[in-house]
Amino acid sequence: MDNDKRSLTLRGWFRLITVGLMLLILLAVSRLMWLEWRQLDRAQQGQQAVARLRLALVAVEMVSRERGPSNSVLGDEVPGGNPVLRDRLRKARMRTDLAFSQLHAVLAEPRSDRPYLHARERAEAYRMALQLARQRVDQLAATPKSERQPTAIREAVQGMVALVPMLTPAVILFADDAHHADPSLATVVWGARRAGELREYAGLLGSLFTPALARQAPFAPEEVAAIHQVKGRIAQLHDLLEARAGMEEPTPAVRAAHERMDQVYFGQGQAFLRQVLDTGYAHGRFGLTPAEFAARYVPLMEPIVGLRDALLLEAEQRSAAVQTTSRCTLLVVSMTTAVALFLVLVMLRMAFQRFVRPLSQVSSALHAMSAGDLSQPLPRPQAQDEMAEVIAGAEALRQATQARETLEQERDKLIDTLRAQSATDFLTSLPNRRAFFETAESELARAKRHEFNVVVMLIDVDHFKRVNDTAGHAAGDRVLVAMAQTLRNGMRQGDVVARLGGEEFVALLSYCEPDDAVRFADRLREAVAGQWVDVGDDMPPVRLTISIGLADSNTHGLDINRLLARADDALYAAKHAGRNRTVLAEPPTEA
Ligand code: GH3
Ligand code: MG
Ligand code: MG
Repeated sequence: MDNDKRSLTLRGWFRLITVGLMLLILLAVSRLMWLEWRQLDRAQQGQQAVARLRLALVAVEMVSRERGPSNSVLGDEVPGGNPVLRDRLRKARMRTDLAFSQLHAVLAEPRSDRPYLHARERAEAYRMALQLARQRVDQLAATPKSERQPTAIREAVQGMVALVPMLTPAVILFADDAHHADPSLATVVWGARRAGELREYAGLLGSLFTPALARQAPFAPEEVAAIHQVKGRIAQLHDLLEARAGMEEPTPAVRAAHERMDQVYFGQGQAFLRQVLDTGYAHGRFGLTPAEFAARYVPLMEPIVGLRDALLLEAEQRSAAVQTTSRCTLLVVSMTTAVALFLVLVMLRMAFQRFVRPLSQVSSALHAMSAGDLSQPLPRPQAQDEMAEVIAGAEALRQATQARETLEQERDKLIDTLRAQSATDFLTSLPNRRAFFETAESELARAKRHEFNVVVMLIDVDHFKRVNDTAGHAAGDRVLVAMAQTLRNGMRQGDVVARLGGEEFVALLSYCEPDDAVRFADRLREAVAGQWVDVGDDMPPVRLTISIGLADSNTHGLDINRLLARADDALYAAKHAGRNRTVLAEPPTEA
C-alpha cells in the first residue's frame, strides 16, 4: 500500500476525535459560562441600579423632609423662626444638599440615552428651583408673622412641594435600569418606589395643614380640596402596597416593616390626623403650632421610609444572592470542566496507548513485512486483551514468514548446488560434457561475432585400461583426477577444459591459431608423460601418455559437432600412428 495515497490513519482519526471532543466540551462549557456570566453581570448592574435608586429616593425624601422645618419656620411667631427651628431647618437643608450631591454624582456619568439625559436635565432644574424655593421661604419667614399672607405661605410651601417631581425622572430611570438588568427585581423595586411616593404624599398632607395651623383657623375650601386629593392618593398607595405584598411571599424583614407602617402610620398616624382634620373642618383652634404638629407627625411617617428601605435592601440582597449563585456556578462549572477535560484526556491517552499506538505499530510492522522487512519491532502487549491477540497474530505471522524465508534461502542454495553439480563431473570436478557443450556454443557464437579462431582439442589417455586391469579401478580414478589437475593447470585463462567421459577430455582454445595449438598440445602431452602418478600406498606410481587430436575453426568452421568430429578423426589418427602424439585435423579433401 502506498503511504501517500493512504486515507486518514488511525492516529489521524484519533487526533481528530480528541480535538473535536475537546472543542465540543469547551464550546458547551463556554456557552454555559457565558450565560452565567451574563446573569452575574446583570445582577451586578441590578444591584448598582438599586443602589442608585436608593440615592434618588433618599434625595426625594430629604427634600420632602426639609418641608417640615420650612413649614415650622413659616408658621413661627419669631420672624425667621426661633433659633431651635432655624437650626433644624439648617440641618435639614444640609441633609437635602448632601443627598442631592450624591445623586448628582451618579448622574454625571457619560451616558447618552434619553431617560438619562432627561433625568440629568431635571436634576439641574431642581438645583436652581431649590435655591429659589428656599429664598422664598426665607424671605417670607423673615417678615413679621401678622404680615404673612395665607396665599404667600401656600405659595412658599408649594414652591418646596414642586421640587419633588423634578427628581422623579431620576427615580424612574434607576428603577427602570434595575428592572431591565434583572426583571425579578421588578415588584420589589416597584414597591420601594410606591413607599417613597407614599412618604412624599404623607409629608405633603402634613404641609397642607401648615397654613391653617399657622393662622389657627379652619381650612380654606381649596385646602380642603387639596387635602382630600392627597388623602385619596395616600389610600390608593396603601392599597397598592397591600396588593404588592400579596403578590409574592414577603421576607420577614419586609413583612415586619409593612406591619409597622400599618400600625404606626395607618393606625396611630391616621387617628392623629383625623383629630387635626376634624378641628380644621370645624373651628380651627388646633392648639398646636405647625412646629408642634410636625414634631408629632413626622415620626409617624418614619415606618413608611422603613418599608421603602426594607424593600430596597431586599432588592439588593436578591441581586447579591444571584451574584453569589452565579459565582458559585461559574466556579463549579470551570472546576467540573477542568476535571472532565482531564478525565477525557486521560481516557483518550489510555485508549491511545492501549489500542491506537500498538495497532499502528502492528500495521506498520505488517506493512514492512509485506515489503520483506522483518526487522520492525512489534509493540509489547499491555494487557491480556484483543490487542494482545492481534500482536501475537502478527508475531506468529512474522515467525512463519521468517521460517519460509529461511526455507526459501535453503532451497535456492540447493538449486545452486544442484545446478553446479549437474554441470560438474563428480570425479574430477571439471565441467562435464553438458557444461562443455553449453559453454562451447556460446564461445563459438562469440568467435563468430568477433571473428577469432578457436581450436578444439580432444585428449585421450593411452592404454588406460591397463591401469584399471593391473592396479584396479580406484587407481584408475586417481589417475583420472591427476590427469584432470594437470590439464587444468596447463590451460590458459579463458580456455575451457572438460571431461567428455571415461578417460577422454576436451578443451576449447579461443584466439588460438593451429600452430600455437599444436605447440600447446605438445607441451601438455610432455608434461603428462613426465609425470608419475601415485595410485595407492602399496602400489608403484604409474606414468601414462596421452594422444591429442586438434581441429581448428579456420579450417573446419564454427560448428561444435563438426569440430569435435574432426578432432576425433585426428585423435584416431594419433592413436593409429602409435599414440603419445598430437595430430591436427587435415582440411577436408575436395570430393
Ligand atoms: P587406447 O590406447 O586405445 O585408448 O586404449 P585404452 O585402453 O585407453 O582404451 P579402451 O577404450 O580400450 O579402454 C578404456 C577403458 O577405460 C575402459 C573402461 O573400463 C575404463 N574407464 C572408463 N571410465 C572409467 C572410469 O571412470 N574409471 C576407471 N577406473 N576406468 C574407466
Ligand atoms: Mg578411450
Ligand atoms: Mg584410451
